[in-house]
Amino acid sequence: MTDRLTPAVFIGHGSPMNTLDHNRYTDAWEQFGAAVGRPRAILVISAHWYTNATMVTAMPRPRTIHDFFGFPEELFAFDYPAPGAPDVAALVADVVRPRWVGLDLDSWGLDHGTWSVLAHMFPRADVPVVQLSVNALEPLTYHLDLGARLAPLREQGVLIVSSGNVVHNLRQISWDDPTGGFDWAHRFDEAARAVMTDEPGDVLALVQHGDYPRAVPTPDHFIPLLHLAGLATASGTTPEVVVDGYAFGSLSMTCFSLGAADLAEGGRGVW
Ligand code: ZN
Repeated sequence: MTDRLTPAVFIGHGSPMNTLDHNRYTDAWEQFGAAVGRPRAILVISAHWYTNATMVTAMPRPRTIHDFFGFPEELFAFDYPAPGAPDVAALVADVVRPRWVGLDLDSWGLDHGTWSVLAHMFPRADVPVVQLSVNALEPLTYHLDLGARLAPLREQGVLIVSSGNVVHNLRQISWDDPTGGFDWAHRFDEAARAVMTDEPGDVLALVQHGDYPRAVPTPDHFIPLLHLAGLATASGTTPEVVVDGYAFGSLSMTCFSLGAADLAEGGRGVW
């Protein structure tokens, strides 16, 4: 047990190219990691392990999965050799009971929802990492609840990183506008920021927003936001915006942290 809760964070990860790029988003991820220090382990909930079960990686050496195509060879060569943490995977399965989480020993590993972010947040890849899937069969309420059930991990020194995007519509992407956001993307992201920083337990009200169908055409990248909202409700605190902005018209890059304000005590003033 640690004296205070380990922070948690939602990261809008955007393009896989952020792995190799340095921009104001990756700078914010790097600063967050530096402020957190060295957690016991990292649990990443990745939008890119969107599957028909709730699973957690439990192998001692998770492989780096390159789950995309059409990107430069340099990205396919990227390796994030962080060790796994079978003990933390077992802890995850324990704290969410009676929800069931399967231990994955050989099918998955770390996908780019995880390593595009951790490449900046923990570039040495020396903190153990486990990854949690997003169960495609469950309703949104399940994911909000599951996030709350993960809260005891923060008492055990586990940093929870949920990795998706608040606005994520690949069909509408505008590659010639790398920092732009469509009006509907702005509206939805602003609504998400308002609810997350005020009443995160009401996050599912976003489903009724007029721009939800365009901002969230599929729920995979939105669901990790629900995990952070659940963690917020469990701790009775509200997330703060770490960084916000837009990419390629139809992505928002907004990130939220939880319980990171204390980290500003060191004089950084960033969080
Ligand atoms: Zn993604």
